[in-house]
Amino acid sequence: MTTKHKNWMSQLAQHYDWMNKKYPDDRLMIVFDIDGTILDMRYMVLSLLQAYDAHNSTDFFTRLQIDDITVHENQVQHLLVDLGIPVAEHQKILDWYGEHLWEREYVLTGNRPFPGVLEVIKWFKIQPNTFIGLNTGRPERLRQDTLRSLNELSRSHHIHFQDEWLMMNPQGSDQEVAAAKAAGIKKYRNDGFRVVAYIDNEPEMLEAIAQAFSDKEILLLHADTIFESSRSRLPWKSAEGKEYDLKELISDRKLPETIDFVWHGINGEVNLRQFLASDKVMWGECDVRLAPTDNKLILRHDSFAESKYDEDEEWLTLEQFLRRVQPTNKGVKFDLKTGGSLLKRMSDYLSDYQFSVDRLWFNGNIEHLHEDGFTLLAKTYQGAIVQAPVDFLTPLVCSAPKKAREILQMFESWGINRFSISWDTENMLTFFDQMEEWGYQINIYNVPNLDAFLRAVLMFPCSITSDFNFPQWHYYGRGSGQNRRHFEYIPKPDA
Ligand SMILES: [Mg+2]
Repeated sequence: MTTKHKNWMSQLAQHYDWMNKKYPDDRLMIVFDIDGTILDMRYMVLSLLQAYDAHNSTDFFTRLQIDDITVHENQVQHLLVDLGIPVAEHQKILDWYGEHLWEREYVLTGNRPFPGVLEVIKWFKIQPNTFIGLNTGRPERLRQDTLRSLNELSRSHHIHFQDEWLMMNPQGSDQEVAAAKAAGIKKYRNDGFRVVAYIDNEPEMLEAIAQAFSDKEILLLHADTIFESSRSRLPWKSAEGKEYDLKELISDRKLPETIDFVWHGINGEVNLRQFLASDKVMWGECDVRLAPTDNKLILRHDSFAESKYDEDEEWLTLEQFLRRVQPTNKGVKFDLKTGGSLLKRMSDYLSDYQFSVDRLWFNGNIEHLHEDGFTLLAKTYQGAIVQAPVDFLTPLVCSAPKKAREILQMFESWGINRFSISWDTENMLTFFDQMEEWGYQINIYNVPNLDAFLRAVLMFPCSITSDFNFPQWHYYGRGSGQNRRHFEYIPKPDA
């Protein structure tokens, strides 16, 4: 029997907290199996079968898709039957497959991780005094290739797996795997780690760990992917799941304090109230433009060309916004939709409300504010954040970094001290890494939902701007009103 009432990732989070409280001074470790747990082995099966075709001038597997593969890498014979491959060919294919299965070429290139698993690993790696251990049935002879391929796959996540925290099967035979896995956990414990959880796709391996360690310290998690041994061997107190869902693992209380969070699009009373009530989001962003009627500064996302002026429209004014935020300890971020006279009016308001510079943040497009707009802001509010979105530089950063750098340096000389990148930018990771390497402060915006938000958090930018439309966390951001649309939330009736 397994405990199904709660998501496996939230059970992991809860158990981790419990162990952390119980052993505040100890080194904690989360241990992962590799094949079928971190790596989706279907990709290796696919690349091997297609390599068979290439080497034997056949075309049995040219149309094979990843979702067609439903068998364990050791049970490819069933797949051949399912695919209707002539029986006379089976033995030849299986022999070739068996011969090449753990060959270097396929170990190094044929693999892909399950979605979310590297993020889960990264999350634990950044927790204080917490380590990730690997415990695999792969034989020792694959040690270097295993590390190389895992590190290659996780490079963009800045994760590095270390030799000393990789337990392998010293026997190198399929029979000894369960004993080797138990020995692996024992070794980690003897080395002084508190093993918080062990994750494996094989029920048999979880059973072996449950039998070897009768205490309740190790949470056993079954990765319900593709496995060989019978499900009936799952220890009764294990939990299982199919998805490495960050939303279940991380709660808002756990958000890193080094990242500034910005509530996007506070252009109305409802969103302002939500922002003011949050103790995690310390910055509020509004879209500032001139009203068409009386030239007052008002908060509205769309220009009047994009969304026509409606006579019944009611605006939150910049003044109302400043008056409400001033008495709190929160910061204000202005998305300035034009330069020129708007900047002048803006500084009049700001001098009335006396925000210290560390609570001020200005954002504007290069083409709206121009050099003189940014220089004026940087000079008037020395110490404030002056930001521009630079997504348009991505192709250049990726292809001609020297040129991109020159342009960024020019922007810096205008007083811009933070650069903003949209989450949906193509090649966003490469762009982000390069910008970080150059030492720039980066804001990520346009983060569509909680899952993307948490993935952005794991990149550790200086700041993240989001609608906070995260009902799972009871954050009910309304959105900026782009295209005059807002998020609506439907209450769930009590079960
Ligand atoms: Mg496995």
